[in-house]
Amino acid sequence: MSLVMNNLLLTDLKSVLEQEIRPLAQEMDHDPTALAKGLAVLAKNGWLALRRPRKFGGPALPDLEFRQFQVAIARYSGALAFLQTQHQSAVSMLSKSKNSALKEAVLPHTHNGERLIGIGFSQLRRPGPPLMKAAAVPGGFRLDGHVPWVTGHGFYPEFLVAAVLPDGQAVFGLVPLANTVGIKSSEPMKLAAMEAAQTVTVDFDGYLLSEKNIVFFQPPDWIVNNDLINISLQGFFALGCAWAGYDLVQSAANRRDTEFLHTTARALSKEIELCTAALEEDPESVPMEERLRRRAWVIDLMARCAHAGVVSSSGAANTANHPAQRVYRESIVFSVSAQTSAIMEATLDRIVQRAGTTHVEG
Ligand SMILES: Cc1cc2nc3c(=O)[nH]c(=O)nc-3n(C[C@H](O)[C@H](O)[C@H](O)COP(=O)(O)OP(=O)(O)OC[C@H]3O[C@@H](n4cnc5c(N)ncnc54)[C@H](O)[C@@H]3O)c2cc1C
Repeated sequence: MSLVMNNLLLTDLKSVLEQEIRPLAQEMDHDPTALAKGLAVLAKNGWLALRRPRKFGGPALPDLEFRQFQVAIARYSGALAFLQTQHQSAVSMLSKSKNSALKEAVLPHTHNGERLIGIGFSQLRRPGPPLMKAAAVPGGFRLDGHVPWVTGHGFYPEFLVAAVLPDGQAVFGLVPLANTVGIKSSEPMKLAAMEAAQTVTVDFDGYLLSEKNIVFFQPPDWIVNNDLINISLQGFFALGCAWAGYDLVQSAANRRDTEFLHTTARALSKEIELCTAALEEDPESVPMEERLRRRAWVIDLMARCAHAGVVSSSGAANTANHPAQRVYRESIVFSVSAQTSAIMEATLDRIVQRAGTTHVEG
């Protein structure tokens, strides 16, 4: 694990993950109660608001260290990595709000599980008429429409929703993640992976978002710009999943002590290190086309590592409780989360270009 964090809060991350998260990993994939235990481990250590400004309790972890934290969690459990990142994103977004009263009421309680918040803004990526609409009314905004993805139902009592105003701006606000007047969530989706994180759709019908719960307004092209910044940042989960695949190969190599398994493990770990260095470069110094290529690289690398984990685990990989098939399924989610058309194209380009070749280059 190329963890270079030296923040005191995080020095024992690896041992906590080894001792408390690894034993729960299989159960956390399909059992929300086990996943709640995993989330509680992070809460107990105060790790749920790592980007929170010092003014509200910190630790305001620098970007790179935060990404390394995300890689480390995804290496042990995709479900936990995916669940906790929704809340960490909500905390980061809330930190940027000008609504001081809301920040003071909420942010100090976001590191230890007292206040847990999901997000629901991927609908802003969809072209055409907005899926979620907002209209100004006395006291706030009336919200109507459909949120196609909100992860954390049953874990997070509230979430940060985005809805589009008639002028194209988006209003973001805190709303309940529970059925109430004007809000109806679906049953948790049946998913190939990370089902325990309880992803739902949420329908709004005339819900009043009160002024005091407004986080901020964003211009019409906000999601496009945000996605441009996030092209490589989202790839860190894929890196963690790639390490999880590598771990399976390495453990098979240790078990069977076969040279080709050791060679494979070495090759994968070398490529993961190279890809890590590429993703850790300051995104602002890397042209967009290259950032897209790197995101495609990490997705492709993750898929190969996950597959290598299956292959090196032999027939046992097919058993319902084997980590190899869990990691393989997790790679499905990390292949498409925060996907844009450009990322989809870059990913598919890489897959097509690779067809028929016998080796892969970064
Ligand atoms: C298990 C799971 C949980 C998730 N949880 C959350 C969550 O908690 N909160 C959250 O905000 N999001 C969540 N997401 C959403 C997630 O990040 C989306 O997968 C991602 O935004 C891609 O959107 P989409 O899958 O809805 O696909 P699409 O709607 O197909 O969007 C993918 C890209 O294609 C483009 N596109 C779509 N249709 C067209 C078209 N007709 N013409 C041109 N371009 C088009 C879009 O603009 C976008 O750039 C979750 C996703 C998954 C799989």
